[in-house]
Amino acid sequence: MHKRLIVQKFGGSSVANVERIQKVAQRVVSYSKKGYQLVVVVSALGDTTDELVELADKINSNPSEREMDMLLSTGEQISVALLAMAIHKLGAKAISFTGSQVGIITDTSHTRARIIKINTDKIKEGLKNGNIVIVAGFQGVTINQDITTLGRGGSDLTAVALAKELKADSCEIYTDVEGIFTTDPRVEPCAKKIKKITYDEMLEMASLGAQVMQARSIEVAKKFDVPLHVRSSFSKNSGTMIIKEVKNMEDVVVNGITLNKKEAKITLYQVTDKPGVAVKLFKKLADAGVSVDMIVQNVSHTRQTDISFTVAKADAAKASRITKSVAKKIGAGEVILDQNIARVSIVGVGMRSHHGVAARMFGILADNKINIEMISTSDISISCIIEKKNAEIAVKKLHADFGLSK
Ligand code: ADP
Ligand code: ASP
Ligand code: MG
Repeated sequence: MHKRLIVQKFGGSSVANVERIQKVAQRVVSYSKKGYQLVVVVSALGDTTDELVELADKINSNPSEREMDMLLSTGEQISVALLAMAIHKLGAKAISFTGSQVGIITDTSHTRARIIKINTDKIKEGLKNGNIVIVAGFQGVTINQDITTLGRGGSDLTAVALAKELKADSCEIYTDVEGIFTTDPRVEPCAKKIKKITYDEMLEMASLGAQVMQARSIEVAKKFDVPLHVRSSFSKNSGTMIIKEVKNMEDVVVNGITLNKKEAKITLYQVTDKPGVAVKLFKKLADAGVSVDMIVQNVSHTRQTDISFTVAKADAAKASRITKSVAKKIGAGEVILDQNIARVSIVGVGMRSHHGVAARMFGILADNKINIEMISTSDISISCIIEKKNAEIAVKKLHADFGLSK
């Protein structure tokens, strides 16, 4: 008889210490005893990846991306081995593999590699021999045997890609919260667990700062229609299903609120308003590998305008340097870097069919005397850049006024 196959992914906080690793082992073994075949993806223990990033920074503030991947991939190698040992201790069979060993082949974009193909032979062989197969998340290998990583939060992507490739019957993402909430439950304790959310909404929330799922993993899940169950590794409760759109979902206008404090804003003043200016700046930024997020430029009355844009904080110093040098060349004015910003966003597929949502959002912020510095929209989200000190209060007010609180 065909045994059902489950891919289970456990995030860093789920394997943060010895007791938690033992808990994960117990859970995994209990599923195996129920007759499931299991492929388990694990992240690095607790904050290991952050600690490794800090360690590298102390040695070299501009480390080679190849060496960064060599370093960061060690975190997951530790967890897979320890989990295998914990499972052995419970008397069950398990075997662990690195990304490279199982043949998760990626391109050569170190620190943000894309998966090209997965060779599942080793995993299938492991399963056939009666093992729980444990795979290191977040990592792959190029065809030239260089180790790569899949971007922060990339174990989610490993799990989704394996579920797709192995045609798993289900893919479960175990984390330190009970599922996807209407907003980060650490910021707003009144946040509610969402039972079902569409790929599009989850992708939007993830891209706008809800770190609970890696955005790229949702893209892949959507593309190959892999339903995901996000749930807690500390309880047996069912969590949130991330799925294709279903009927009635558009009835809810706003389904979630996100907060992102990881961006900085750069403003270039007094730019001559003529063709070819924007390209000079943004081409230089692109060539330097800086990805720009929101961009705002006003129509000018005086033939001079200001350009503001946001970048990831990690790129802020570099982007500011480049902007200053471009400003000099094109005879523009001052360049100001503002690190004290936050982006609050509202997300919901219902926005496609309801109007007045933006006005309502701006009204809520205005009523709370919160100034909006930049605005951007997509068909299912509206984002505002505000001062960082107002971030949490903005989230709480939007959450309450859009009727999301429990
Ligand atoms: P893991 O280590 O399991 O990958 P992460 O730290 O990457 O876990 O993601 C889980 C965290 O995401 C939660 O602890 C929570 O604070 C945060 N989070 C942000 N937004 C949301 C949201 N809308 N719903 C649930 N969690 C969220
Ligand atoms: N350990 C990696 C990170 O912290 C991957 C992951 O946790 O998904 O980004
Ligand atoms: Mg994560």
